[in-house]
Amino acid sequence: MKQDSVDDLFQRAAKHAARFRDNIAAGPQRPRISYQASLDEFREPLPERGGLGVIEELVAKAEPGLHAMTGPRFFGWVIGGSHPVGVAADWLTSAWGQNTGNHHATPAAAAAEAVAGNWLLDLLDLPRESSIGFVTGATVANFVCLAAARGDVLRKAGWDVEAQGLFGAPPITVLIGDEAHATVFSALQFLGLGHDRVVRVKTDDAGRILVSDFTEAAGKVSGPCIAILQAGQINTGAFDDFDRIIPIARDIGAWVHVDGAFGLWARACPQRSGLAKGVDGADSWATDGHKWLQTPYDCGYAIVRSEEAHRRAMTIAASYLPPSYEGERDPSHFVPELSRRARGFATWAMIKHLGRDGIAAMVARHCRVAHAMAEKLRSEEGIAVLNDVVLNQILVRFGAKHPDDAADRLTQRTIERIQADGVCFCGGAIWRGRKVMRVSVISWLTDDLAGNAAADAIIAAWRAVLRESDGC
Ligand SMILES: *Cc1c(COP(=O)(O)O)cnc(C)c1O
Repeated sequence: MKQDSVDDLFQRAAKHAARFRDNIAAGPQRPRISYQASLDEFREPLPERGGLGVIEELVAKAEPGLHAMTGPRFFGWVIGGSHPVGVAADWLTSAWGQNTGNHHATPAAAAAEAVAGNWLLDLLDLPRESSIGFVTGATVANFVCLAAARGDVLRKAGWDVEAQGLFGAPPITVLIGDEAHATVFSALQFLGLGHDRVVRVKTDDAGRILVSDFTEAAGKVSGPCIAILQAGQINTGAFDDFDRIIPIARDIGAWVHVDGAFGLWARACPQRSGLAKGVDGADSWATDGHKWLQTPYDCGYAIVRSEEAHRRAMTIAASYLPPSYEGERDPSHFVPELSRRARGFATWAMIKHLGRDGIAAMVARHCRVAHAMAEKLRSEEGIAVLNDVVLNQILVRFGAKHPDDAADRLTQRTIERIQADGVCFCGGAIWRGRKVMRVSVISWLTDDLAGNAAADAIIAAWRAVLRESDGC
């Protein structure tokens, strides 16, 4: 079989990718076919013999089932827009094929990561001595940070969890807000701390930890403790009150971890940084590159103030520990993996391309668009915006004047209608026991015009649902 030339193959892939991106804004902001139909596209017996033209076939089979996640009117979940500069850097990352475990093996990949890591600390204004692990996302970042936390609080209680494990260890109390992200509970589950074996602290309407309840819970703690706070609640975008809570946690010797998957980026925007005031007083922070920084999937950062606690929790060779450690930074010392992708290249490229100013302007723009969309939606009869739009998240309920169950149904039907219309994409959730629609403004392509067009489409869908269901 004659092979495609590398040049030809890469050029063809690039053409398909560029065409896909060029058409994204005009097409429906949703997949054109279902999962079942996508399975039908791909399903065939294991190929016995190899063949050429695989890339064209992949494009033809995949494209109908691709979601417009890089589109300007995609507001589903909290998903960044995979900026083309990051994508191009990521293609090179794949083409270069660097296994990024240590700095001897791949100096450039390790160096880009080290430098991009320092830039991140500067951008997010976190303690400059912190160490950073480049991981797949905030889920694993939460896991890494909480592993460092677990090791540190137990070491202070005279227990070496990295060597001895959890059996027989002093119990750790985990204080966590009732509206923490699901993946933080997963991280606790992975770490043997249990997702139910926690003290859930009550939160207010916006999902913020109630300081009075936190104080009370902290008062009951004796022994090792980890407190988990949040910068950017997944539904409301709200921030815990770090200035007040962190000192209380400090008083009881707790390790303070902050899940700031997207919200931590408020720090990079002067107009919004006040929201996360005091967050730099914590011990560890989880955040994402593939959300507000717009790197392609996947990329997240585990940031830990104590490099030693971080490295102890993740180092693969147990003998390779401080103070004997004097070598250069190895990427694998701060993450669970040995073999891994060189995520530093795309992060470096995105920060270099946008710059501090560009990142600040993008975050400010998204918050402005979210605010304007919320105002427009709020002004329509029957649409309620449930949250104070402090950041980029809007929580919407349709049929606000109807009885609760009817409003649940109207909200669900409006979401389905919006998705079918395809002008924009928003998803649903349950908030405080009731059906809501979530709008997350976070794609680099989204501007005022796109936000306005989306708000119009949402209102039109709501009116159509209301017309069809009059008397509901
Ligand atoms: C997205 C998100 C996570 C999980 O991050 P992944 O990148 O999906 O692993 C955790 N916490 C919050 C608040 C999030 O928004």
